Amino acid sequence: MIQLTNITKSFGKNDVLKGINLTVQKGEVVCILGPSGSGKTTLLRCLNYLEKPSLGEVTIGDFTVNCKRPSKGEIHALRQKTAMVFQHYNLFKHKTVLENVMEGLVIVQKQSKVTARETSVKVLEKVGLGSKLDAYPSQLSGGQQQRVGIARALALNPEVILFDEPTSALDPELVGEVLDVIQKIAKEGITMIIVTHEMGFAREVANHVVFMDEGVIVEEGKPRDIFSNAKEERTKQFLKRIT
Ligand code: ADP
Repeated sequence: MIQLTNITKSFGKNDVLKGINLTVQKGEVVCILGPSGSGKTTLLRCLNYLEKPSLGEVTIGDFTVNCKRPSKGEIHALRQKTAMVFQHYNLFKHKTVLENVMEGLVIVQKQSKVTARETSVKVLEKVGLGSKLDAYPSQLSGGQQQRVGIARALALNPEVILFDEPTSALDPELVGEVLDVIQKIAKEGITMIIVTHEMGFAREVANHVVFMDEGVIVEEGKPRDIFSNAKEERTKQFLKRIT
């Protein structure tokens, strides 16, 4: 359903992604693990062209964009198929919780305000924020703000939700509520790709685990293949350090 073919990205002389090939099936929850600086975030950002790959192809469903000559229309169409949950939430500070979720539906998807409001309330209830519709981000905890970020992504009804270290900016006591929400929506069969350092979460929620180091996929497989039976020395060392 999603296919990355030979995704390569360099920043100047820094070769950050060295020909990544990855297939993600519809409904899969993929966790991308790996040391800091291994290219995980860059890979996620290449998937929706927040970063333009230096080489390679991104396919979502029957739609393929080749980095050689993507038109603005193609990039726009690709982005419409994805939604991203950012490490630092990226909410509009001067908009309420409800307005934050409605924004993309009204501005990008051109839905009527009535329809957008209905969808937004529904997803905010799903993430446990039905009583915070009129609050501003500054009135919320980090965990609640991130749940707004997740609601915003869900509301767009994308083909895949991309999570870029969604809990790494949170105080430890707030991590659980965000992971619980992600786990809940994972059960609904939404395709998700999650960059995370939360190993326990990855083990429990992922169908497919990808271990990256130095711009390549070192190893991938089912959680038990990676967490209990890693074959590659680099994977074993990483897991030993982090768990
Ligand atoms: P990870 O998510 O695994 O920590 P990143 O994808 O954030 O890794 O970063 C991989 C490498 O790419 C790092 O060396 C980082 O400094 C570099 N990098 C990421 N984004 C940029 C950018 N916009 N400009 C220059 N270098 C970047």
